[in-house]
Amino acid sequence: MSNDYKRGSFQLMKSINRSTVLNMIREKAPISRAEIAKQTKLTPPTVGNIVKELIDEQFILETTQGVSHGGRKPTFLEIRADQFFIIGIDVGKFTMKFIVANLHGFPVDRFTLEIPSANQLLNTMKKGISTLIEKEEHFHKRFLGIGIGMHGIVNTETGVSLYAPFFDTYNISIKSELEAEYNMLVRVENDAKTMTLGESWIGNGNQASKLVGINVGHGIGAGITIKGELYQGEHFIAGEIGHMTIDLSGPLCSCGNYGCLQALAAGPAIAENAIKALKAGKSSYIRELAGDDLDRIDGSIIHKAAIQGDPFSIELLNQTGRYLGIGITNLIHMINPERIILGGGVAQSGNFILDPIKETIKNRGLTEEAKNTPIVFSKLGKDASAIGASVLILKHFYQGLR
Ligand SMILES: [Zn+2]
Repeated sequence: MSNDYKRGSFQLMKSINRSTVLNMIREKAPISRAEIAKQTKLTPPTVGNIVKELIDEQFILETTQGVSHGGRKPTFLEIRADQFFIIGIDVGKFTMKFIVANLHGFPVDRFTLEIPSANQLLNTMKKGISTLIEKEEHFHKRFLGIGIGMHGIVNTETGVSLYAPFFDTYNISIKSELEAEYNMLVRVENDAKTMTLGESWIGNGNQASKLVGINVGHGIGAGITIKGELYQGEHFIAGEIGHMTIDLSGPLCSCGNYGCLQALAAGPAIAENAIKALKAGKSSYIRELAGDDLDRIDGSIIHKAAIQGDPFSIELLNQTGRYLGIGITNLIHMINPERIILGGGVAQSGNFILDPIKETIKNRGLTEEAKNTPIVFSKLGKDASAIGASVLILKHFYQGLR
């Protein structure tokens, strides 16, 4: 065995132990050194050395809260949340959301920029990142990296946006472009997948080992995590449920096929259906809320009308729920998840869509377990994809990868 090899395996062991201790503090804080040694089965001196290193590097800190059983109060350790931060970005159809997240993944700052046009994508990203880094309140902060949730298909290994349907762009090298500009770690992932990752880490994932997150907004996408890791498929396409065919004679979808879930149940489809019916003379409270300007109709107006008891709006949202229910039943039979999380703009419609989704799954599920698959709304709400994007970097950090 060469000395190089020995040194290599020693370094590797040290980095694994360090990551084990750091993760235990993240998950179980406040926790004492003795308890970490007990739970990780590392020796107390090893734990002591790693903890000292982590305190010196300002990743963790000591607190003396907790109950003293006579004698000295025990010293506890927790993640230090005021030194290191991550930038998380959610790239939508018209806007880009930027957040600054701490080492817990909680956002401490956020703002949104309009995307003027598809060819301004990278410039808008750089404008937002630079604005954040240069802000006075973030001046003393150290940034560990930039995570991006991008709609469409993303090669997560190279950080290239392979196809972004809303922009109709191909092969944009986001990662290499930003790494060259900011000299920071950059990770890029599909936005529905980052939403799922965020929920799995600090949202409503509830430690589910097989979790599916569905993002219903301008488009419909899904992410699948298995034991906390996103499932990509062979070519990063896994989760593209927006283009699952629901109705062979349904409307034409932007992808060229007919009757895709997205063409029936995404935000623009709901608004389009409402406009079509109103133009044909349907009476609805929506018309009043939109000030008779049918172009203003969107999901939030339809939701408002439904809350006021407008029968047409309620039926429109219920029908959306039934379409989603069919898509989700297919997903349940294919993946058999422990739990499903629903996020994105359309999810704001609450029980107007959730009840018919559950009813459809109850009618169509193959077994009692399939019929009763738990479905909950996203906990992180509108920040979910951006928070999840920052988790791409947090995962890297807590796994001790450098
Ligand atoms: Zn389609």
